[in-house]
Amino acid sequence: MSGFTKSPWIIHYDASSCNGCDIEVLACLTPIFDVERLGVVNTGNPKHADIFLVTGAVNEQSKDVIRNIYNEMPEPKVVVAVGTCAASGGIFRECYNISGGVDSVIPVDVYVPGCAARPEAIVDGVVQALKVLEQKHQDMKAVPQNTDQTLYLRAEKSDAPEILALQKNAGQCEAEIYNDENLPALQQTLEELQNDFDRAIYIKAVINDKIIGSVRGQAHEDTAYVSGVVVHPYYQRHDIGRQLVEEIEKAFPNAKRFEAFTGRPNVRALHLLGRAGYQEFTTEPFTPAITWVYLQKERQ
Ligand code: SF4
Repeated sequence: MSGFTKSPWIIHYDASSCNGCDIEVLACLTPIFDVERLGVVNTGNPKHADIFLVTGAVNEQSKDVIRNIYNEMPEPKVVVAVGTCAASGGIFRECYNISGGVDSVIPVDVYVPGCAARPEAIVDGVVQALKVLEQKHQDMKAVPQNTDQTLYLRAEKSDAPEILALQKNAGQCEAEIYNDENLPALQQTLEELQNDFDRAIYIKAVINDKIIGSVRGQAHEDTAYVSGVVVHPYYQRHDIGRQLVEEIEKAFPNAKRFEAFTGRPNVRALHLLGRAGYQEFTTEPFTPAITWVYLQKERQ
């Protein structure tokens, strides 16, 4: 881990900045601040990078580049949004081609304020990022030991921001499987998710006070509809998804039938539902790359 904290490698991408924040990022590399003397390297290769520094708001052209860079970076990785535009869209927020800040596309760990963000603030943001990176590294190392301490609890509306961040994080892996970014989980806003708590039940999987998985359930007549099974990428392949499905079924004691859906070709999700006792009964095309597969099971 000392390699990470002593010489973090950074990749910088200008999403559509006015250039103000980029100049300040470059100032961090020039002699006054000279972060390279501390071991920070500005790399052009996402596969070598630990920290993703993004300036500017997200537009239609930059969002795919942001996703691609993020997906190519190895775990653990940290995203730093530099400047007001990267945080929220800033003064460009209402423009016809702007979809918002960086967190409208990928999960952001550290926000550096300012218009333009000052070099001292950017260096401070990188220092914060190193702490997050170290925590993520520890989390990854601890996974095999602590999955048996998972708690399955009813989620509250106040959990929505954490669940949304998890959904976007896990959704990136799914989007890679489908090679399609149009997944509903990636498009959902915080407001939509908060409103969803008024009609649906959410169960969360918690380890060390952190939500590492969630599932949604909603009843109609004698059927409970199960959807949105997400598990943090570090914790996948530890049977947490199947347990979440089992827990949401318990939340509907009067349901005689359960229905779930997932997309083909997501073999892992289909396998998970199969292990939970669900059987396919129909399909429906969603996009050229994704076919929704509907599965059901009767209460035993
Ligand atoms: S935050 Fe200010 S300086 Fe930075 S990209 Fe936006 S408008 Fe330019």
